[in-house]
Amino acid sequence: MTETTALQDTLASIHVAVTSDPTGEVASYIPEMACVNPDKFGMHVTTVGGNDVGVGNNNERFSIQSITKVLLLARAKLEVGSELKERVGVEPSGDPFNSLVQLEYERGIPRNPMINAGAIVVCDVLVELLDDPKSDYLSFVRKLAGCETIEFDSSVALSELLCGYRNRAIINLMKGFGNIRGDIDEVLDLYYHACSIAMSCRELARTFSTFANAGSLVETGERILSPRRTKRINAVMQTCGMYDEAGEFAFRVGLPAKSGVGGGIAAVDPGHYAVAVWSPRLNSKGNSVAGFRALELLTDQTGRSIF
Ligand code: GLN
Repeated sequence: MTETTALQDTLASIHVAVTSDPTGEVASYIPEMACVNPDKFGMHVTTVGGNDVGVGNNNERFSIQSITKVLLLARAKLEVGSELKERVGVEPSGDPFNSLVQLEYERGIPRNPMINAGAIVVCDVLVELLDDPKSDYLSFVRKLAGCETIEFDSSVALSELLCGYRNRAIINLMKGFGNIRGDIDEVLDLYYHACSIAMSCRELARTFSTFANAGSLVETGERILSPRRTKRINAVMQTCGMYDEAGEFAFRVGLPAKSGVGGGIAAVDPGHYAVAVWSPRLNSKGNSVAGFRALELLTDQTGRSIF
């Protein structure tokens, strides 16, 4: 049996196992996203050797939401060096992704770039440094995904803009502490558009395969990020990518990963593969229930994790 056939069989058995007893709720705090079919499930693996294996709705696009934060960080790292660390930390927060609590007593410096506050500071950096941040960022994502048709979903971005009270509170608090330099509306516009990008599991796995491949595109070998920066991004995903469930995720899955409230999770086994999974039903931490379980089964059944 070839490696690809074995992986295909593994994904097929995971698909059956995780969709048999659906639990969790679709995120409804962004009204435009509430109407997604809760029973969708897709999973796709791209290896650093360029093999692609997927199951279910792996070619259907969904809102990547916070998965975008990894890509925002990667884009910012092409522009700025260690000075970013003065404005956003690299410690897990242990709090929900949209929490304001630590920001007040840590004087407007977010714990890490994977929570909303941290990603908003990263957007502020991009707004300051790029001529046309939205189109620059979209081109960057398209390049990593190897796909020119990837787009923002402006109705999702607008829907979040209209009811994003907590993010507005977060950015105002940080502005009050002097950690936002740009115009609040411009920074939120980039943040919401970045979150609204629609991608499939196949496209996300391809995108994250660069993080599994020491910063080079799997398809062409072109270097996008240095191995050192890639290592650091993977480390931040490992410790902070699943918010206040990062410990549980390390315990059960054991891969650097990033989730989004659209129900997606992208994970990386450095040197081996990237995997993306999508199932819109979320647990109380905002992470996909079936996605989490599917990744646990994947690392259990393949016997591979970073630990
Ligand atoms: N756009 C969402 C928000 O700001 C992203 C949150 C998420 O996916 N966890 O709340």
